[in-house]
Amino acid sequence: MIDSICILGSTGSIGRQTLEVCREHGVKVLGLTANRNIDLLEEQAREFNPRCIAVADKNLSKKLKDRLSDCDIEVLSGESGLIEVASMSDVHMVVSAIVGIAGLVPTYAAIRTGHDIALANKETLVVAGKIITDEARKRDVKIIPVDSEHSAIFQCLYGNDRRDVEKIILTASGGPFRGKDKEYLKTVTPGMALKHPNWVMGKKITIDSATMMNKGFEVIEAKWLFDVDVDNIEVVVHPESIVHSMVEYVDGVVMAQLGTPDMRVPISHAIMYPDRIKNNFGKLDLLGRKLTFEKPDMDTFECLKMSYEVSRAGGLMPMVLNTANEVAVDRFLKGDIGFLDIQDTIKRVLDGYTNISNATIEDILYGDIELRKNL
Ligand code: NAD
Ligand code: MG
Repeated sequence: MIDSICILGSTGSIGRQTLEVCREHGVKVLGLTANRNIDLLEEQAREFNPRCIAVADKNLSKKLKDRLSDCDIEVLSGESGLIEVASMSDVHMVVSAIVGIAGLVPTYAAIRTGHDIALANKETLVVAGKIITDEARKRDVKIIPVDSEHSAIFQCLYGNDRRDVEKIILTASGGPFRGKDKEYLKTVTPGMALKHPNWVMGKKITIDSATMMNKGFEVIEAKWLFDVDVDNIEVVVHPESIVHSMVEYVDGVVMAQLGTPDMRVPISHAIMYPDRIKNNFGKLDLLGRKLTFEKPDMDTFECLKMSYEVSRAGGLMPMVLNTANEVAVDRFLKGDIGFLDIQDTIKRVLDGYTNISNATIEDILYGDIELRKNL
């Protein structure tokens, strides 16, 4: 169990739930960061009294500094501020909960400082999985998954020999449009896509769940976290979101982790690991429940298929997948493009991109910026 953490992205859905867990269990919070929501960040800073906080938006950080002038809290700004919070001393674990590729640089900085990571920011592993996991290994840094599926797999691997793993079975809720065809998907509005049947999350991941890009990202995330080939990762649609994922072993034994859909459970697991802490969250009651499993429809939800292809291609292609998706989701949320245009945009951008092998972190960051200019 750890006793002091910092949270990158504390104003988001994962960030706020992490603070709930900290409040409940007396975990000390030494650093917090946000993009633009300084009202909530101020409230969090006054409650948890961290040593320093950072706001990505430089103008807003000045404003917050004035507002907190009566407190002994250092207020930093911009990417350098995020890096400083990520690499501050005396921290036992950094919760990486920024959304998108914006989380990459601060998470990488935390790893290079030697801090263990509770990882929610899956985009970091999607775009730079090899670099991140190599660096973590080199510095003996633990990356504990917060994503519910990966937390499940992590737990299904306890006490077993990794060489005995036959395959990973990643469950997916299927999102709000499970069973729908492309004709229907043409009519989908942001309001419809933002209604996830089982989870309440940030807007971007909610849209990613509706397109199944989220599951595609999770395939790549699992590949890097557990060192398995994507061809040994099978996605199974399980609309009830009770079985959070499974591991099949060579002798045919399948281990599964079950629970209610509540992100505070995997967050607590990551922060408290290897301990288990009693909580008052809702408990699972299986009596009378039906659990169902189906094959995903990758011809309709092409983002999932593209994630497998991109992961096999490696190099900069996972970055291209992620950047094209970030831009397209943003446009969809603003009402500028339709729902199906998200996957069509990604397909078009992937098709037109010239890949390189052995991409460095600089290649990835530069490639992301350049691609955004041309999208
Ligand atoms: P969110 O949109 O609710 O919060 C995102 C956080 O990142 C906020 O604190 C925001 O201020 C910060 N942020 C956004 N853009 C930034 C930028 N450019 N620079 C610095 N900070 C920035 O998102 P969320 O739902 O909490 O998701 C966070 C991450 O966790 C994502 O990678 C998501 O895929 C992953 N995740 C979320 C859930 C969930 O239940 N919400 C579950 C599994 C994984
Ligand atoms: Mg998940």
